[in-house]
Amino acid sequence: MFVDIAKIHLKAGNGGNGAVSFHREKYVAAGGPDGGDGGRGGNIVFKADSNLSTLADFRYKRKYCAEAGENGKAGRCSGKKAPDLIISVPTGTLIKDAETGRIIADISDDEPVVVAKGGNGGWGNSHFATSTRQVPRFAKSGNPGEELDVTLELKLLADVGLIGFPNVGKSTLVSVVSEAKPKIANYHFTTLTPVLGVVRLGEGTSFVMADIPGLIEGAGEGIGLGHEFLRHVERCRLLVHVLDISGSEGRDPIDDFDKINKELAVFSGELAERPQIVVGNKCDLIDEDEIERISKYFENKGYKFFPIMAAIAEGTQPLIKYVAEQLSKLPPIKRYEAEPKPMEDFTTSKKRDFSIRVEDGVFFVENAEWLIDIMNNVNPEDYESLQYFERVLRSSGIIDALIKAGVREGDTVSVYDVEFDFVN
Ligand code: GDP
Ligand code: MG
Repeated sequence: MFVDIAKIHLKAGNGGNGAVSFHREKYVAAGGPDGGDGGRGGNIVFKADSNLSTLADFRYKRKYCAEAGENGKAGRCSGKKAPDLIISVPTGTLIKDAETGRIIADISDDEPVVVAKGGNGGWGNSHFATSTRQVPRFAKSGNPGEELDVTLELKLLADVGLIGFPNVGKSTLVSVVSEAKPKIANYHFTTLTPVLGVVRLGEGTSFVMADIPGLIEGAGEGIGLGHEFLRHVERCRLLVHVLDISGSEGRDPIDDFDKINKELAVFSGELAERPQIVVGNKCDLIDEDEIERISKYFENKGYKFFPIMAAIAEGTQPLIKYVAEQLSKLPPIKRYEAEPKPMEDFTTSKKRDFSIRVEDGVFFVENAEWLIDIMNNVNPEDYESLQYFERVLRSSGIIDALIKAGVREGDTVSVYDVEFDFVN
């Protein structure tokens, strides 16, 4: 069964906890702290696999968890980092945040993408030995791994998309110009899954043609078959609009053409603007004058028109040559850019929970789970990012609370994994 959309749950691995441990040696009364750091939790990584063609597997397995990092050990031994969990998807899969619809990644080349980050391991107590704090009894627990629901959406990568009513001869056309062998039959909706065919013109020139199931009226609003398949021509650089110009099923080809274009416009204005080439198929069933009339009609409207007989591959060579020429002038196949994660606005007066603990002159901001996500996204090398972080600390009341707790310029403040000197 062809499945081109799925929703799954991801949970990246938690970071391992830092260890509390003290060096023990014969004749040495009290050794220093030597607890090692926790290991990083495993990321969840998505990778394209060109051998896959559907998202069917994701219907049966919906939860994906990466392993946690190992806890730190005595003797300054860091815990082992957990392996990444790698999920293979068909080339052309979009990954979106299920809650917001934000595009996280477009898995359409060889580059693997981290979609859920594993948590950092916590620091062991060996980090916390300072001149004022000789016997640190604490260590940090690891940060939780990212957890989210994502939708996977397959949008095929094809240069050319065939569109048209059912039974006009789209599958026949693909089968005579490429090595693909889609099902062909004289009834509607024989093509239930999109098929990609590679069309070769010799000497290294080739392009990919997608045969998608026929579109019917109302497809753009999601009625019947078609709507869901329009997704697969969204990336196409060029559309080939196939018509049964003989009207062998009692419909008028020009009327068909207008109806399909209306559907495209309802689905996506952008798609309706895509360049189209018109193909009049089943020329064997009507006379020359009629072919001439329809051909003139489309040429007057500014479309390139090709009369063909797909069944016997008549007229298909000039068509694919022209398609190749046009493609060489068009921009490459569309890749979707990842959309940035919206920074939740913590700079408004929204109060958030936290507590402050002072130990050996260090001010720890704790019990503020909501901060972890922000911390993971703050880039300490980026000025704006740091300013944002400062605004968060200020508006959430953390700065005021630190002052109340007696913090002074230059004191160390520790917020989860980050330590900094207090400056007001
Ligand atoms: P699709 O639904 O658009 O993919 O149409 P198919 O490729 O499955 O073809 C539908 C029917 O039209 C089949 O019975 C084909 O054999 C027939 N057909 C395809 N091309 C031609 C043609 O050039 N002439 C005639 N007479 N029939 C054709
Ligand atoms: Mg078909």
